[in-house]
Amino acid sequence: MTSKTLDSFLNDSILDLKERGLYNEIDAVEGANGPVIQIQGKELINLSSNNYLGLATDERLKHVAKAAIESHGVGAGAVRTINGTLDLHITLEDKIAAFKGTEAAISYQSGFNCNMAAISAVMDKHDAILSDSLNHASIIDGCRLSKAKIIRFEHSDMDDLRTKAKEAVASGQYNKIMVITDGVFSMDGDIAKLPEIVEIAEAYDLITYVDDAHGSGVTGKGAGTVKHFGLQDKIDFQMGTLSKAIGVVGGYVAGKANLINWLKVSSRPFLFSTAVSPADAIASTKAIELLMESTELNERLWENGNYLKEGLKKIGFSIGNSETPITPCIIGDEKAAQQFSKRLFEEGVYAKSIVFPTVPRGTGRVRNMPTAAHTKEMLDESIAVYEKVGKEMGLI
Ligand SMILES: *Cc1c(COP(=O)(O)O)cnc(C)c1O
Repeated sequence: MTSKTLDSFLNDSILDLKERGLYNEIDAVEGANGPVIQIQGKELINLSSNNYLGLATDERLKHVAKAAIESHGVGAGAVRTINGTLDLHITLEDKIAAFKGTEAAISYQSGFNCNMAAISAVMDKHDAILSDSLNHASIIDGCRLSKAKIIRFEHSDMDDLRTKAKEAVASGQYNKIMVITDGVFSMDGDIAKLPEIVEIAEAYDLITYVDDAHGSGVTGKGAGTVKHFGLQDKIDFQMGTLSKAIGVVGGYVAGKANLINWLKVSSRPFLFSTAVSPADAIASTKAIELLMESTELNERLWENGNYLKEGLKKIGFSIGNSETPITPCIIGDEKAAQQFSKRLFEEGVYAKSIVFPTVPRGTGRVRNMPTAAHTKEMLDESIAVYEKVGKEMGLI
């Protein structure tokens, strides 16, 4: 028997995805990723970005980024541990620590890369990680990379977590045990039960790791989910991204000084991959400064989120159990979800369908991300389009 060629593997795999309605066509945005975008020459109300506070196009961030390009150039020039650590990176890390209420922070090139870096810097094959079943792909991959035993617990099921923590400790097989969770679950918009997680962690001596990519800038008046619950002293790793509400690019861990010192000497993407550019570092710093000075953008985000949720609920859509501005419209069938999103596009609303493997099979949805930059008129127009297309497809 001959082995499969690359071509036949690719053709078969792509065809298979297309037949099952799981093949994602990627659209290029022509211009900035604001509340209104242009795709294929068509103007659309944008309900798909993670630019929660509208900071990706904020004039104040653009201004400091341009100045940093003049003073520091466009690239960091080396990995952080050789001579790629610029004063701007240190300022950013100090600012993150102040924002998160921790002793120190370390920044990475992305949130994904941060999870690759930080989990495996601390956990190894003699350890175990208790991981929520809906955790983000970068957490799953970061856990796999560490070679620790991964023990999944049912999504936000604290009885299941407690049972599995107890079993892991009783087995005597593991040196260290970590519990890891998203702070805000990105596909449903629900919030992790951090007070219970901390209680279980204290009972069983677990290391605690919260990935707050969708919480930073959103929950806790902007400071994130750990702050929302007042648990800054109880969570070992407060991981986050600079690429969503912060509007730029990068990731970070905030925590105790000895943890951050360890990550700076042992986490591989920090040691072997060049740091974010000067413009990125200073723009993120500015964004955090703005969030620390005023909660105005954060309040507008929640107002818009609640407005859109109420509007969609009123016309008969299921928006799941979101507790944040993330507003899923659960449709179920993958092909119907994709068709729905396509019709929204034709009617002038950009809201992407999200299907397996990003969410479980049979829970296909269109996910809406209202931001602080949307106007009430834009949201009203979107709700009217949802009503029209929903009725046309017999979904409401
Ligand atoms: C988006 C996301 C990441 C990755 O962050 P990037 O900065 O975009 O790489 C990590 N974790 C979660 C939960 C996310 O939603």
